[in-house]
Amino acid sequence: MTVFKPVDPASLTPHKHPFIDGKPKQMLIGGQWRDALSGKTFKSINPSTGMPIAEIADAGAEDIDAAVAAARQAFETTWRKVKPLDRQAILLAAADLFEKRYEEFAWLDTIDYGGPISRTRSGQRRHVGLLRYYAAQAVSLHGETIENSLPGDFLTYTLKEPVGVVGAITPWNGPIGNSIWKIGPALAAGCTLVLKPSEHASLSTLMFGQLMLDAGLPPGVLNIVTGAGAAGAAIAAHPGIDKISFTGSTATGQAIVRASAGNLKRLSLELGGKSPNIVFADADLDAAAPGSAMAVFANSGQICSAGTRLFVERPIYDEFVERVSAIGKATKVGDVFDPETVMGPLVSEAQLTRVCGYLDAGRNEGARVLAGGARLQDGDLAAGYFVPPTVFGDVRDDMKIAREEIFGPVISAIPFDSVEEVVARGNATSFGLGAGVWTKDLSKAHRVSRELQSGSVWVNCYQAMDPAVPFGGYKMSGYGRESGIQHVEEYLNVKAVTIKVA
Ligand code: NAD
Repeated sequence: MTVFKPVDPASLTPHKHPFIDGKPKQMLIGGQWRDALSGKTFKSINPSTGMPIAEIADAGAEDIDAAVAAARQAFETTWRKVKPLDRQAILLAAADLFEKRYEEFAWLDTIDYGGPISRTRSGQRRHVGLLRYYAAQAVSLHGETIENSLPGDFLTYTLKEPVGVVGAITPWNGPIGNSIWKIGPALAAGCTLVLKPSEHASLSTLMFGQLMLDAGLPPGVLNIVTGAGAAGAAIAAHPGIDKISFTGSTATGQAIVRASAGNLKRLSLELGGKSPNIVFADADLDAAAPGSAMAVFANSGQICSAGTRLFVERPIYDEFVERVSAIGKATKVGDVFDPETVMGPLVSEAQLTRVCGYLDAGRNEGARVLAGGARLQDGDLAAGYFVPPTVFGDVRDDMKIAREEIFGPVISAIPFDSVEEVVARGNATSFGLGAGVWTKDLSKAHRVSRELQSGSVWVNCYQAMDPAVPFGGYKMSGYGRESGIQHVEEYLNVKAVTIKVA
């Protein structure tokens, strides 16, 4: 049955991959691999080299229609009727296959979006763990019986039912992890999917589609369409889709809210951020300095919850910012297949231009460049989209670099004087995704964690993520939670049943 052919990891060579074989990449619709009906394709670019690596089918509205029809049919005829233990078994089989082949996925993502191999490899525990976590959820869904006060004898209980066909749309900053975060809970809940990965990094999701079929997922349960914003917009507006699960920018999230109004789809939105990372003078600075540096430099700053507003208590400000800058200068940037490399390129030329625009804006508004500050163009790096770890000092809250999401390796370091002040300034943003607090004072840690308006607060650590711990936004960082027991609820309807007992 299986067409899964594991590759010996030792045979993998930099910037090459058996999945990148010169053939155009097709979409997965109704269990079949298909070209776009229009025959159109788009190119995926390797951001380390600026060179195209694959032609990928460019979905039009008619392809989205076909994918939605396949998902609807699979939902009605198959998946919603599959017993929880059987849904669980498929998710566990997928997790086992994925674990065995993880190196191939890590390698592919490193080529496709530019995450260094040290980073893509390090996702294994969480990504395989997510599949196993949702497998457990598949057999843990239940409604409730409810005591009621109705006159007479009535039995009341709730049923949890899958919402139906889910449209899932993801960004490029952690391609395989982003897709699994959509696929796992939807399948556990009994939903079927039309999933569109980012046009900048679709390959690992397509390879994962085949893995799901090999794990025994019935055709049509997971459909993968490829394309850019127009394909996403067609999903968001489609009347045959019951729910959208979106991760991406706040502007696109707003467009999705508008597009989804036609049939009032349910939405979960994981959007942008401008997260405060607060370092108090009593913190363990040996931990806080590297922690604060990597809160932004990890993944070249392309993390929605990156701690980009670095608030440092004034007595330690100069020394601490100097330490973070020194870490930035010592961070190895470049060859993504060198296991020692910490930072790769930005994902695209457009992203490079955008981030360099913020570097100019920071300088023009009077911030001081303490590390980095300009595109790297030495030798081979000139062909790719490399920006070094950058630290701006003397940043004011009203500067563009302190207000807007940059999505690059750029720290805005800002001094503060008191707990009340830093909480107010930390919260003075339209976003509310993540926050960091570094202190040895437990009371202060609790107090500040309570006051910060964000979906996650990390104390004496940053971006610690776990399948069991909910993640999501306050304010314009979106709504809904991913991970944790709340996540599967996003894919379920609650039906109340009231029975008059004769
Ligand atoms: P983006 O919004 O440009 O694109 C995300 C996805 O939406 C892509 O698949 C894209 O093709 C699609 N899309 C574009 N226009 C669309 C439209 N009109 N309708 C429907 N779909 C559309 O975001 P990006 O540049 O790929 O990713 C970066 C952004 O994602 C950042 O703002 C970042 O903060 C955010 N992000 C958030 C989280 C989170 O969990 N909160 C995680 C990662 C990234």
